[in-house]
Amino acid sequence: MVVPRCTFPMPDGRPCRAAPLHDEPFCFAHSPEKAEEAAEARRLGGLRRRREKTLMGAYDFAGLGSIAAIRRILEIAAVDALGLENSIARVRALVAAALAAAKLLEAGEFEDRLSALEAAVRLAPAPPAATSALDDASAFGDVGR
Ligand SMILES: [Zn+2]
Repeated sequence: MVVPRCTFPMPDGRPCRAAPLHDEPFCFAHSPEKAEEAAEARRLGGLRRRREKTLMGAYDFAGLGSIAAIRRILEIAAVDALGLENSIARVRALVAAALAAAKLLEAGEFEDRLSALEAAVRLAPAPPAATSALDDASAFGDVGR
């Protein structure tokens, strides 16, 4: 079965190949009938990305790619929750932040221990030349008799 693809020629001369709209040769981005909507979608996407950058800067938030960055979002959430009037929801949010932070500390501790182990393995002297599988087999030859 041939899957239909958008036939709009891209700047490099090859077709777009995105999924086309129903009963149309072009995708949403290249359909002449959807040009206005596509332009608006691009404009909103640009606004969204700018807003995202502004917020990330204002909150000193670097995404969720590291333990330190995740810790930052928990701090923001906890501080915001602390600033609210007391309620069951506020208490639940603080408890959830504390539990998530405890999990994060545990993950960080494991990461540190793993790094220390990896460093120790790198520094350790090379093991003696490995014995052959036959030697190992003969060493355990009496087992099971
Ligand atoms: Zn297209």
